[in-house]
Amino acid sequence: MSRRRFAMPTPPGVADFHTQGAASTGNWETDRADERWVPTHCSFCGVQCGMYLRVTDEGVIGVEPRMDTQNRGKLCPKGVAAYQQIEHPDRLTYPLVRDGGDLRRASWDEAMDRVVDGIRRIQDAHGPHAMATYGGASMTTEKTYLLGKFARIGLGTRYTDYNGRMCMVSAGAANNSAFDIDRTANPISDVAEADVAILIGANVPETFPIFIRHFWALIDRGGVLICVDPRETTLARVAQLHLPIRPGTDAALLNAMLHVIVAEDLVDHAFVDAHTVRFDEAAASVAEWTPGAASEVCGVPSTDIVTAARLYGRAGKAMINHARGLEHQIMGTRNAQAAINLCLATGNLGRPGAGYGTITGQGNGQGGREHGQKCDQLPGQRRFDDPGAIEHTAQVWGVDPSEIPEKGVPIFAQLDLMEAGQIRGVLNFCSNPIVSWPEQARTQKILESLDLYVVSDMFLSESALLADVVLPSAAWAESEGVIANSDARVLKINKAVDPPGEARTDIEIICDLAHRLGRGQYFTYDSPRAVFDELRHASRGGRADYYGITYERLDDPAGIAWPCPSQDHPGTPRLFEDLRFGFPDGRARFNPVTYEPPAEEPDDEYPYRLTTGRDVAHYLSGNQTRRLGYLTDQSPAPWAEVHPDTAAAHGITDGDAVRLTTRRGTTVLATRVVRTIRPDTVFVPYHWAPPIAANQLTISRFDPTSGIPNYKACAVKIERSTDPATPVPIPPVPTGGSDT
Ligand code: SF4
Repeated sequence: MSRRRFAMPTPPGVADFHTQGAASTGNWETDRADERWVPTHCSFCGVQCGMYLRVTDEGVIGVEPRMDTQNRGKLCPKGVAAYQQIEHPDRLTYPLVRDGGDLRRASWDEAMDRVVDGIRRIQDAHGPHAMATYGGASMTTEKTYLLGKFARIGLGTRYTDYNGRMCMVSAGAANNSAFDIDRTANPISDVAEADVAILIGANVPETFPIFIRHFWALIDRGGVLICVDPRETTLARVAQLHLPIRPGTDAALLNAMLHVIVAEDLVDHAFVDAHTVRFDEAAASVAEWTPGAASEVCGVPSTDIVTAARLYGRAGKAMINHARGLEHQIMGTRNAQAAINLCLATGNLGRPGAGYGTITGQGNGQGGREHGQKCDQLPGQRRFDDPGAIEHTAQVWGVDPSEIPEKGVPIFAQLDLMEAGQIRGVLNFCSNPIVSWPEQARTQKILESLDLYVVSDMFLSESALLADVVLPSAAWAESEGVIANSDARVLKINKAVDPPGEARTDIEIICDLAHRLGRGQYFTYDSPRAVFDELRHASRGGRADYYGITYERLDDPAGIAWPCPSQDHPGTPRLFEDLRFGFPDGRARFNPVTYEPPAEEPDDEYPYRLTTGRDVAHYLSGNQTRRLGYLTDQSPAPWAEVHPDTAAAHGITDGDAVRLTTRRGTTVLATRVVRTIRPDTVFVPYHWAPPIAANQLTISRFDPTSGIPNYKACAVKIERSTDPATPVPIPPVPTGGSDT
């Protein structure tokens, strides 16, 4: 098999700071008397690259390299530009309240009174569970922990959830069902040590650019890379095998690979017998999934399915990693389970280069899902039905166990309750659902129907524009705290400057609200460190045990991978090295996977599959990155990516405006005609707001186990358009009204 490393296209922008020197020495000072360097990590994706922020009396003026185990002194375009948010003129610097239909400036007292009056009115009339909180996983872990606590004993509601519902929950549900823990099993660096690595539904060069070095290292060592993706990504282009799968059909492919592994007896029987249960059920469940049958469903040639299965099944050490391409489906959890079934059948777990990983999308997508912000979880990844979980949490919080409400439901089930008038108020911290939730028209209608909708954010997002009250919050560089990267390494971010104007940290906002609601005795923190110390105790003994991690230990930019149960514990970079899994019997679970077609299949009226994803220059809803000129210059607007055959069938040439229409909505975008996408598939990146938002088109259907939206496959039609694609201006921050 030929090595094609030399043919690697230029990755989509990785800045190499290696030669700039000083940072790699650990020297935090510069020669300039008016400048200091603050060690921290990037605010964006789950790689969480190390960086220094350059700070002078004028504020944050730039970024410098910081060597950590992930980035080795490199940053992608987003990381290079991240500091520009901090002094950005669009920052929210004072609260806003709605008056007569418009937002106007208000004092903190007026804004908080408006929030508290609204909460009291709703809860007096409809009970405590008529309020809900919704948080972002880009916040520090302290903030996410505190928001979950505030929902439960500040508001007394069972309805809290987080925006990882759109990100990691399918992977988490699958991990829990197979291993009884929600964490990547192996560090991503293990890819470089594998003989064979399978990457499914993960456009690493665009979404986690710094991780690409592990895949290059694999290829340079002579390892085999297999990429599964409807698009030939820049990494798929140099893989030994690219399987251009039809969107939404991953389980068919993975079941067929297990079929081949069973049929050709590539099973590691010693591992299966000693360390797993339900293998026979899983093997029986794939009996019908011959490569030919799977090929009909997933569009991958059956010979390539067999080749992939043999390469993987015969490898001494093999890795599987996936991301949202596999997970953003009604089959998301089952797809991830099908991937894990392959690891278990071949004994690929618990060794360097042999294992499994899910790549985290959001900056703190791992830490934000560990300590109680999720609807069904208490701190430390405790579940409500874990023995003693409620009692332990209540003891740390200083409340009676009966004061902790029962577990809630995922945010997208809460939307049904909002439509039914059962949930009437939402406090939204650090998320932009108008852009990021599916079926944007429905989202807007629901948010507009609430009696109270409050947003805390650093910029006036499209969702904040609909709020009754907008609270200006601090950016990541304006307070300290911890995050956990994609490897579950807990890292420390540090404060560089004060928040601008009257902006406050979310910790201050939550504690102030609790005091005004008469629950202040449970929210008496004088610093993020105090919140973290309580979190350590709350997580103690749980799956995500942080008890042994301290701020001091996190001065090392490599951080500490949890679980870390004591201060002399080194952390756990790789799970399952002792081949014991989280269940009481110590065995991992096979989960037989039943295939179900995507939520909406193409038909005569809507003949293509729409799939959505990310662009290297932008982050999530784009609320931060769409304001940064360096990034918008690279990527000013979304596009519709189609194959030349598709374009020709509709008389479209590269750059033409094209109208995309689904049963939910329509938009006009510029076309990119490329040979690197399936002819039956249309790709649109999702970082922009209406009227060019991908989520005007997507469908409100959800994985029944994880509650993740089905972003990756719905039916769409395309037409050449005489209307041009429309860029969206950034709305100005309102002024006027009362001052402080
Ligand atoms: Fe690193 Fe991700 Fe930030 Fe890019 S966006 S610099 S890859 S953490």
